[in-house]
Amino acid sequence: MSCQPDRESNHSKNVIAALQSLGTGSEGAENDPILRALRALGAATTGRSEAGAPLPGDDRPIQDDLRRLERENRLLIDHAEMLACALGACPDCWGTIPDCADCSGEGHPGWMSPDPDCYRHFVQPVVERVSAERAVADLLDRCRSHSAR
Ligand SMILES: [Zn+2]
Repeated sequence: MSCQPDRESNHSKNVIAALQSLGTGSEGAENDPILRALRALGAATTGRSEAGAPLPGDDRPIQDDLRRLERENRLLIDHAEMLACALGACPDCWGTIPDCADCSGEGHPGWMSPDPDCYRHFVQPVVERVSAERAVADLLDRCRSHSAR
C-alpha cells in the first residue's frame, strides 16, 4: 500500500504534464486554429455561457417575445369572445367541443341571440356592405339585360 501513492502520484504528474503540453507545444491546443477560432467566437458571443443557462439581464429577447405573444394571445381571445357575442356563438368553443360545459358542443353562430351592441359593432357594417354590393350587382345586371334587348 505504501507504493500505491507514489505510483499514482507519478501517474498524476504524467497526466498533468501531458495536459500542459497540449496547451503550450507547437502541436498543442493553443496552436490549433479551430480551437482558437472557437474560443474567440465564445468570447465574442454574449448570451448563454452553457447549455440551458438563461441569458443575463432583464432585456432578454425571449422575455420580449413572451410578452408580445401574451399580448397577441390576449387580443385574439378578446376578438374571438367579442365575435362570439356578436354572432350568438359559445365564447368558449364556438360549438366545436362536444363536452363544452357552456354549450355541450351546440354553440355555433346563432346558438343564442346575439348581443345587440356587439352585433351592431361587428356584424351590421358587414351586412350593410354586402347588401350594398349586391344592390349594385343587381342594378348592373338589370342594366346589361336592358341594353341587350
Ligand atoms: Zn361551447
